[in-house]
Amino acid sequence: MIFTKKQQLIANQIENESQISKWKDWKWQLSHSIRTLDKFEQLTGITFEEEEKEQLRETLDKFPLSITPYYLSLIDKTHFRNDPVFKQSFGSVEELITLKSEHADPLSEEKDSPVEGITHRYPDRVLFHVSNICSMYCRHCTRKRKVGDIDYVPSKAQLMKGIEYIRNTPQVRDVLLSGGDPFMLSDSKIDWLLSEISQIKHVEVIRIGTRMPVVLPYRITDDLVKILKKYQPLWINTHFNHPNEITSSAKEALAKLADGGFPLGNQSVLLADVNDCPRIMKSLVHKLVQNRVRPYYLYQCDLSEGLSHFRTPIGKGIEIMESLVGHTSGFARPTYVIDAPGGGGKIPVMPNYIISWSTNKVVLRNYEGVITTYQEPDAYEQKFCDRDCENCNLDLKLNEIDESYAIGIEKLLSDTNDTISLIPEDNERILRRE
Ligand SMILES: *Cc1c(COP(=O)(O)O)cnc(C)c1O
Repeated sequence: MIFTKKQQLIANQIENESQISKWKDWKWQLSHSIRTLDKFEQLTGITFEEEEKEQLRETLDKFPLSITPYYLSLIDKTHFRNDPVFKQSFGSVEELITLKSEHADPLSEEKDSPVEGITHRYPDRVLFHVSNICSMYCRHCTRKRKVGDIDYVPSKAQLMKGIEYIRNTPQVRDVLLSGGDPFMLSDSKIDWLLSEISQIKHVEVIRIGTRMPVVLPYRITDDLVKILKKYQPLWINTHFNHPNEITSSAKEALAKLADGGFPLGNQSVLLADVNDCPRIMKSLVHKLVQNRVRPYYLYQCDLSEGLSHFRTPIGKGIEIMESLVGHTSGFARPTYVIDAPGGGGKIPVMPNYIISWSTNKVVLRNYEGVITTYQEPDAYEQKFCDRDCENCNLDLKLNEIDESYAIGIEKLLSDTNDTISLIPEDNERILRRE
């Protein structure tokens, strides 16, 4: 059923005689988004005590509210305080708490921004913020600092700055469109933007990060898919956090995208009292793969301001990974990552599987607790690599790419770089030598 009784009821309260055609019109949904406490109470029938209301108003002044009628319709009114959709979309007075360890921009996205709209953190790919708005304001947004601030879609001239940066930076082979939600742009703007980026020779893939399939699945129209299909290879990542979000409408949107030929991924955020449970996560990943979406990342909740009530210890994420590895299909398992505060990028975290090691044997444990050994080869001819592929017996003809450049731990492992250690700039022992 695409139009539930509850949805019909909400639609009728918003506008008399609402039709299913209106409900499924994404622009109708957007123009009737719930942005005030009163409207929320009126449409859900949920009421708050006056005292709580006052605090909630203060919260919503600081971090505004915006919920699509569709997403609102998923809230279970009778148990709303424990409802995962309610918690992700409706303000909590705890958002007013700011801890010393929290920052407005914990990932230093603005420090790593060479031009407006671009975050260039990794060598070969960039994040391109192409929209400042979303159809639903996630309460756990990592860019909470920006939510509702500058509610607009950037002009072509503004977007051109990012496009120019990508054009002038040949090492960028992967462009990740994010925001805000890129699908808040009009179809014609999306068409224009993708066409500009795809014309850049060194860009090999484009990715889009969107929460539309979760919060406004009607945005995934046939027209939109038709436009996107012109720009393959195009990867699409979405953001389901709880199995309750995988509704028939969401499934329909995902099917359109999967049928369009786009590889689909999902990025979940680990959130206290929403999905911090191995059984919920397992159910979520199973539903995702049934809908042709591959779980990509499970994020540890960032140290953004006002998110303390959402954060779990890292042990919770490791426990969840422990419950997935081996217990379910490999492709149903996301990579659990911590986005390094200060902008170091995503760091994968796993339970430990290597127990011990000698020169010819590794001792490992599996998901069942069985301890096993792997015999390493007696004779393995170490290949000296001077990164001169022409003279190697492996067949890799690298014509254009300069592979001589290595950074970080890869550099320490290389045969030709003389670096023996990476030393922090302010290391006292080394400073004494000077
Ligand atoms: C997450 C992120 C990317 C993409 O990282 P992948 O691990 O390739 O998915 C790129 N740039 C920035 C700034 C990011 O935060």
